[in-house]
Amino acid sequence: MTLVNSVLEPVSLTSVADLDRVWDQFGYTGRHDRTRAELESVLAILPRLRTLLTADRDEAAELVNQMLSEAQAVPQLRRHGDFDWHIHAVDQDAALDTRILVETAMAMIDVIRADELSRLTVCADGTCEALVLDLSRNRSKRFCSTTCGNRNAVAAYRARQR
Ligand SMILES: [Zn+2]
Ligand SMILES: [Zn+2]
Repeated sequence: MTLVNSVLEPVSLTSVADLDRVWDQFGYTGRHDRTRAELESVLAILPRLRTLLTADRDEAAELVNQMLSEAQAVPQLRRHGDFDWHIHAVDQDAALDTRILVETAMAMIDVIRADELSRLTVCADGTCEALVLDLSRNRSKRFCSTTCGNRNAVAAYRARQR
């Protein structure tokens, strides 16, 4: 789910250095060109990922199928570095945008099969567009960040004081 989380976070991704930071932060492996073209190709897929992550279950299933066949994904077990056997559906030397798309699609397979799409929502803050992945047992996570959560707690507190 690391890759899904990375696109859920409101990451500011405007430079090659930003992409490098995301790369380190989320422990990506494999090909990484560190070029403007790579950054632009990653930025270009973000709207598609957002569409996938906010789609209803049936739509999401179709989008996942589309993404996987487009990338000619073939699930293979791989073991590298500190990572024990896990699935890669495209080669490590495929372009980064393709790998992000495919890994997100692969992660969504589990979410769709388990019918857990309700765990993916848009932040409850009225001015925030960030996606929220709620993995808590009681599904209590409504805000993308503590910043949004706190801002709303303060607003609610003030409203009660009036
Ligand atoms: Zn791997
Ligand atoms: Zn938010």
